[in-house]
Amino acid sequence: MARDSELAINGGKPIREQYLAYSRQWIDEKDIQSVIKILNGDYLTTGPTVNLFEKKIAEYANAQYAVSFANGTAALHGACYAAGITKGDEVITTPITFAASANCVLYQGGTVVFADINPDTYNIEAENIKNLINNKTKAIIPVHFTGQPIDIGAIAKIAAEYNLVVIEDGAHALGAEFKGKKIGGLSTMTMFSFHPVKHITTGEGGIITTNDKSIYEKLLLFRSHGITRDKEKLRNGTESWYYEMQDLGYNYRMTDIQAALGISQLEKLNKFVVLRKHYAQMYNDGFENIQEVVTPYQREDCNSSWHLYILRIRLDRLSVDRNKIFQALQKENIGVNVHYIPVYLHPYYQGLGYKKGLCKEAEDFYRECITLPLFPAMTEADVEDVIQGVEKVINSFRV
Ligand SMILES: *Cc1c(COP(=O)(O)O)cnc(C)c1O
Repeated sequence: MARDSELAINGGKPIREQYLAYSRQWIDEKDIQSVIKILNGDYLTTGPTVNLFEKKIAEYANAQYAVSFANGTAALHGACYAAGITKGDEVITTPITFAASANCVLYQGGTVVFADINPDTYNIEAENIKNLINNKTKAIIPVHFTGQPIDIGAIAKIAAEYNLVVIEDGAHALGAEFKGKKIGGLSTMTMFSFHPVKHITTGEGGIITTNDKSIYEKLLLFRSHGITRDKEKLRNGTESWYYEMQDLGYNYRMTDIQAALGISQLEKLNKFVVLRKHYAQMYNDGFENIQEVVTPYQREDCNSSWHLYILRIRLDRLSVDRNKIFQALQKENIGVNVHYIPVYLHPYYQGLGYKKGLCKEAEDFYRECITLPLFPAMTEADVEDVIQGVEKVINSFRV
């Protein structure tokens, strides 16, 4: 996407000649060859390669089981089904997330309750969650926003106290660690997404990890029309051709084509996370002395997987709003983004009756956040361009 370079700040040349996306995939020859191998083989849809990919993700995330889905959103839908969420149930989540973290509750007829975020961590914390629990509350969907782990220990404690299911939205957190343990085996269920901007990609794709066998079986049923061929589970027949639809499910299956790409990508995951962390550290160092921005919070006892690098703009120290800064950075050919519009401010959720002002900290954060490019395929020179671009733009708007 080319930008109009003549409009860069001070009328001069933009910091970068070429537009730098905020994120993009890293595909190498090995990835391509693994997909081609599947295309020449017997299975295109869900076959042995899907099973192998699930096994490898379960191993990586320290979980007993993994069930893949056509995308992360379908995986979250499956998780809500497996958790038994239905009409009348309330589920607590954060407003600072992608809409899918909340939509999955609505798919099952449940009601979404938004907890406000902590202004330092940008995540929902146990205290805020606890205040919203009542006898209709069924589950919590915490999001490891940007890849920075939430306090899963504290959330597990209240979940146990009130008998709630925890579904971690780990779309940003493949490779992240909470107190030395990989995200993925710590709650009832964890979802990972393989969309191209996430840590590894399968094109579209998602997965649920779990240690619970009955949850695992529900997920398998749900992603394939509610149909089983498992002889031990069949109710009305035993013939070798016989199968049974036992509940209303969907066709949410991943293909072997996607899984082959996923397996090949998984081999590069550790390298990807190291690169993300390195670039994030360069940003932190580069912005250390700029008083107009706040760099991301980092828990000492956890390892972020650095899906997103978000600066919070100190509007009290600048003469303009975030939109002006956003536009100025775009004119420097820097692909900035905003993560996220609080979910309940979307027109659809407003139509359901959620009111502006519901989560004050989330709305303040939304007004001030700006996402900078961060992905393994960028270079140190790209990171330096972004740092220079931010310096240039901030300098021009200083009060
Ligand atoms: C990407 C994402 C999802 C949805 O994943 P898809 O694979 O795109 O369906 C859900 N939650 C969060 C926080 C995400 O970033």
